[in-house]
Amino acid sequence: MLSVRDLGVAFGAVEPLSGVSFSVEKGETIGIVGESGSGKSLTAMSVMGLLPLIGGRITGGKIVFDGQDLTDLPERAYRKLRGGRIGLITQNPMTSLDPLKKIGPQVDDVARLHLGMDATQARARTVEILGTLRIPEPALICERYPHQMSGGMKQRIVIAMALAADPDVLIADEPTTALDVTVQAQIIRLLDDLVKQRNLALVLITHDMSVVAQTCDNVVVMYAGRAVEYGPVETIFDRPRHPYTQALIACIPRGLEETARLTGIEGTVPTVINYPKGCPFHPRCARAEAICATDPPDFSVEGDSAAACHFAEVAHAQPA
Ligand code: SF4
Ligand code: MG
Repeated sequence: MLSVRDLGVAFGAVEPLSGVSFSVEKGETIGIVGESGSGKSLTAMSVMGLLPLIGGRITGGKIVFDGQDLTDLPERAYRKLRGGRIGLITQNPMTSLDPLKKIGPQVDDVARLHLGMDATQARARTVEILGTLRIPEPALICERYPHQMSGGMKQRIVIAMALAADPDVLIADEPTTALDVTVQAQIIRLLDDLVKQRNLALVLITHDMSVVAQTCDNVVVMYAGRAVEYGPVETIFDRPRHPYTQALIACIPRGLEETARLTGIEGTVPTVINYPKGCPFHPRCARAEAICATDPPDFSVEGDSAAACHFAEVAHAQPA
């Protein structure tokens, strides 16, 4: 349904994203995981065709959606896809909601614009969708304003707006980061159900490995604008071969899945300004050797998965 191959993105002379590849089919969830600054949101913005808005451009690779290459799609055509067949859910629901407009009309407008429904059809659809999202008394909620709702409810409304266009692909960029823990778990479960019920392809962007473990079929681990390991979730969790992936998994507090936070790896993700030579992870890597500071590692492929580490063949014994 959606396939990204070897994507590169530049802002002027700096290239904060390169060599990013993943694909996702209907009824599947792909996780894109990494710390903030790893290029996850930039990847989402590239797929949504939003790079020109922030002064970026695609320098290489392909983004193929339903057989169509999006990398040179004109903005007019992109406007139809965005919020239509490709939906976006961001961390802050208020970036998608109009504070001055009632909930009902906001969701109705999506079906009117993208599916050409009239007001009555659109409202019936809105009420139905709010119901499937387990929002109590949908008809009443339609008459409320965003500020009258909790953070979790607002995020459900944003999901409803995305669904109202009957999308094929949903990109959720840290959809639960701003919510409290119990609500986070509810929203993640909801998204997981939607993938199955509606046969959606979900791209779930997160910093939380426990969320990946709960919901994703495949995962791409990103570090400093590069994919460093990818593969089926079971393989990656059973046999992580990249020291960064191993560290991310080691950060999940066992038995406390819902409160897991990525805090356990020392140091910070390098920026394009201080981008290290060789392997981008070497300043923080416990396994680094001399070659890591000079030569960027290639992917070592094993079955369906791959890791970009000079020692991927031997480094899987114990999590770092
Ligand atoms: Fe660590 Fe070297 Fe592997 Fe990079 S290539 S992850 S620095 S061992
Ligand atoms: Mg982000």
